Amino acid sequence: MASTNGTNGADVKKDFKPLGERPPLRSPYVGVPDFLSNVSNFKIIESTLREGEQFANAFFDTAKKIEIAKALDDFGVDYIELTSPAASEQSRKDCEAICKLGLKAKILTHIRCHMDDARIAVDTGVDGVDVVIGTSSFLREHSHGKDMDYIHRSAIEVIEFVKSKGIEIRFSSEDSFRSDLVDLLSIYRAVDKIGVNRVGIADTVGCAGPRQVYDLVRTLRGVVHCDIETHFHNDTGCAIANAYTALEAGATHIDTSVLGIGERNGITPLGGLMARMIVADRDYVRGKYKLEKLRDIENLVAEAVEVNIPFNNYITGFCAFTHKAGIHAKAILANPSTYEIVNPADFGLTRYVHFASRLTGWNAIKSRVDQLDLSLTDAQIKECTAKIKQLADVRSLNVDDVDSIIRQYHFNVKTGSNTPLLDAVGRNEIDAETLLKKAHANGNGNGVNEEAAKCC
Ligand SMILES: [Zn+2]
Repeated sequence: MASTNGTNGADVKKDFKPLGERPPLRSPYVGVPDFLSNVSNFKIIESTLREGEQFANAFFDTAKKIEIAKALDDFGVDYIELTSPAASEQSRKDCEAICKLGLKAKILTHIRCHMDDARIAVDTGVDGVDVVIGTSSFLREHSHGKDMDYIHRSAIEVIEFVKSKGIEIRFSSEDSFRSDLVDLLSIYRAVDKIGVNRVGIADTVGCAGPRQVYDLVRTLRGVVHCDIETHFHNDTGCAIANAYTALEAGATHIDTSVLGIGERNGITPLGGLMARMIVADRDYVRGKYKLEKLRDIENLVAEAVEVNIPFNNYITGFCAFTHKAGIHAKAILANPSTYEIVNPADFGLTRYVHFASRLTGWNAIKSRVDQLDLSLTDAQIKECTAKIKQLADVRSLNVDDVDSIIRQYHFNVKTGSNTPLLDAVGRNEIDAETLLKKAHANGNGNGVNEEAAKCC
């Protein structure tokens, strides 16, 4: 028998290479490939027109629902989930109207686990029905008041009825993370056996963390053969992380809504999920979804429910791709990947290097000088940057302020003028204001390309 040396038979001396010749070490932070993971093969169940209708400000009339449904379909979501047709007469009519649009996305509606609701749902023309029932002790005691035997019986009755109509059926528990694990697995196994298309896990109160999600989804993956849908509320800020972790653990479908709107503070936002998933598998996400439409969809929904896009929104927040600190700006201008994990161009957006502050650096100002189509040496740009920083220590600056200083500085250099415009900066704010006014007045008369000045 060949002798081994404790490294799977490899000859340590022969394989040894000096440090500089070794391949780079694998980062310990790169995910381990996992045969259960679906981060490169997931589907979105978009619930703006169901969960989103539960948002405090939401009221969608038929026309708005159709507009949103078409926009989501164009974006490429796999499913569009609608409010139960049993909720109101108009909800039923809207459900029928959207089913008749002939969208590529499958249309689902979301109902209680009850035959009355199921009968109404299948008559609307939907492609599938999402059934939900509370399984936690809280819901069993304080909501529907039914025991697990009743839940089993009604689940099987509803599932068999919907299946008999030839459309998809999902069965989900509600408040899954506060339900008894044995109860949960027992009912999921029972519905899987009779051919449900998906089982659903719902963190209805937003209490779960990624580790709990991983454990539950992974356990469930070992119990059922059907697809696994997950639904995460964002009460404690984990909705995106939980969705991602669920996919890692073998979930197949993620519920989202535009901007995350929903009951209380909502669920996994569509845009936030896209941000997370494009980092995991850019080709899959770009190949499947029209990412450049994200901003329009968010604006459409934000307007419909009368909210603003948050400043720190994923991808589309006004400063999502703004780089401010000098050291960041320098690196971004050299190679954007240095400080960007997501490429704004994938979403039809552009990055912005913020240069109107005391944190700016000469590389950012150099870039601005180029945008303004001006010509200065590096030494001159450094001097000009020092003036800008000096002034920015006294008051906040905007882009026009900085542009005016640059133009005035350029004017002085090119004409040999020695206007001591900026030397006195910093004594007090009145001085600064006066200087700025003067800089604006002078800068605007120097024949600078105003269109270039707007570009950033
Ligand atoms: Zn929900």
